[in-house]
Amino acid sequence: MKKFSLIAVIMLGSTLNGAGAPVPHFSGEKAFVFLKAQCEFGPRNPGSAGHDRCRDYLLSTLKKSTPDVTTQIFSYSLPAFKSVMKGANIIARFHSQKKDRILLCAHWDTRPWADEETLPEKRKMPVMGANDGASGVAVLLHLAELLASQPPDIGVDIVLFDAEDAGDHFQNRSWALGSAAFARDLLRTMRPRFGILLDMIGDADLNVYQEAFSTQYAGFIVQRVWQKAAELGEPCFIPQVGYSVYDDHIPLLEAGVPCIDIIDFEYPYWHTLHDTPDKCSPTSLESIGRVITAIIYEEK
Ligand SMILES: [Zn+2]
Repeated sequence: MKKFSLIAVIMLGSTLNGAGAPVPHFSGEKAFVFLKAQCEFGPRNPGSAGHDRCRDYLLSTLKKSTPDVTTQIFSYSLPAFKSVMKGANIIARFHSQKKDRILLCAHWDTRPWADEETLPEKRKMPVMGANDGASGVAVLLHLAELLASQPPDIGVDIVLFDAEDAGDHFQNRSWALGSAAFARDLLRTMRPRFGILLDMIGDADLNVYQEAFSTQYAGFIVQRVWQKAAELGEPCFIPQVGYSVYDDHIPLLEAGVPCIDIIDFEYPYWHTLHDTPDKCSPTSLESIGRVITAIIYEEK
């Protein structure tokens, strides 16, 4: 009760100052519809029918929220694929005339092989990627709707990366190829103040520890996000460093843009055939979405 009245006073204060747009409600249920919709295309590994169909779905869905949706096509080669592959990063810009911007990102491709399965024949099958892929994208698709209906003070770029998850565990540079292409060709023109990457945030048993590269190279954003989570009463954000992960934030950090990775890496179904929607929950998407939404709408 005491905490609630304190928050009410702070909100009143910011309204009187005329600063900051009110924070819209982020619905975990609405985000979860987007998670299931992606999984209905089947696995979205590069070269698959599900990948093609999901790309078209993501483009048409984002176009309902902003006219400024583009695709960055890039080529890449990996030993696992016999020919040169074409990747597609999907970029949705909100209020592109604004100079002050935030970048929000997630990967939309899914792993071509369930290599954490115990049976060899299962390890060759593609994963569904309900959590590893669809969850971060789902939060950003619902957020796009909020950005369209109630513009924040700041410009926002949502980027959905391709070719994150076809890497080889012995080679860091075989992962996160979409974000590497984006960092090389487009990041400098967008110049975001900072970036936030969402990956594997749909686990029904959600525990998000701080990621070590994020705390080391973009600590001020980590502090802001975990502080906001505490204010909003979202205990799934645990204020301790848990692990370090090579993910799509690394190419952005290397290009000089502070970017954090919000990831729950303790997911027993990671890179298995069991990474399916029933292991994820609307509540988890809402916890993440609420915090990110508050960060965006309170940015001046
Ligand atoms: Zn993965």
